[in-house]
Amino acid sequence: MKALVFHGPGEKAWESADDPAIQDPTDVIVKVDTTTICGTDLHILKGDVPAVTDGRILGHEAVGTVVETGSAVSTLHEGDRVLVPAITSCGRCSYCKLGIPAHCEAVGGIGWIFGHLIDGVQAEFARVPFAETSVHAVPEGVSDEQVLFLADILPTGYEIGVQNGRVKPGDSVAVVGAGPVGLAAIMTAALAGAGRIIAIDLAPSRLRHAKDFGATHAIESGDDVERQVMELTDGMGANVAMEAVGIPATFDLCTRLVRAGGTVANIGVHGASTTLHLEELWIKNVTITTGLVSGTTVPTLLQLVRDGRLAAEKLGTHHFGLGEIMQAYEVFSAADANDALKVVLKA
Ligand SMILES: [Zn+2]
Ligand SMILES: [Zn+2]
Repeated sequence: MKALVFHGPGEKAWESADDPAIQDPTDVIVKVDTTTICGTDLHILKGDVPAVTDGRILGHEAVGTVVETGSAVSTLHEGDRVLVPAITSCGRCSYCKLGIPAHCEAVGGIGWIFGHLIDGVQAEFARVPFAETSVHAVPEGVSDEQVLFLADILPTGYEIGVQNGRVKPGDSVAVVGAGPVGLAAIMTAALAGAGRIIAIDLAPSRLRHAKDFGATHAIESGDDVERQVMELTDGMGANVAMEAVGIPATFDLCTRLVRAGGTVANIGVHGASTTLHLEELWIKNVTITTGLVSGTTVPTLLQLVRDGRLAAEKLGTHHFGLGEIMQAYEVFSAADANDALKVVLKA
């Protein structure tokens, strides 16, 4: 088969690789029908994720068709259309039983194993471990594009932004960073009943998208973001401030945008230490949350897609054939210049 193979920082190739085979009785093999590229893949290519080694097939978000099942698999069959999510859940370890498969202990102590600790899904075929407890059947009548982004960014925005942030009907929500994950948080905050949803970003094009995804207000990053958010929230600040960038300045901004008693929900992937201004925060009754998606809300999100309440496919702005993945990486790497949100790759 062909696959997108990582060859060390800055190096990747769409090349021939061995077809995956069943290794454990709980595995299935899927033919990858539709996949995408994640910001995390770009981090890997920069060399930021040393656990990913030369020869690894990248990718952790796909919709595919089951073509082979392991001997212990009884509820999945050849021909089934499945969403393969970023997080693998063995269903048996302590963390899976606690409902946080993000920390599944079965492979390497983390639920994110595709394109990280085992070969991923940017390939014609992929081996899916613990398939019955990990994949989701795609509802009938729903297209691949409609569910593809439920593999990672939509549950990330919903679980780590909206649920961790405890967004309630009527809440004012500030989302700092209107990239794909920020937009997923905006979409799902709207579903959760947020009143004002204030998007904050440097790029006017992203703010335009934010309005289209449910933001009620858009603020271009600058000196007076804090003042503008205060004006929009009766001088109190946001009930929930979500960080969806992953740098110290935007996290710090969130701690200044949140009102007393509110929540700062960190979604961003941070690579540098951040100063936490406890000398100001200790008296504010503020909650700070962090997290890696578990994907436990994917069944709910699938229902919302099926019922026409969540237009997840809007995140896919650029479409390619799977064999054009090198070109798709170029477009996604320069997302702002190309006005790209997520790319869709179809076999
Ligand atoms: Zn991802
Ligand atoms: Zn587990």
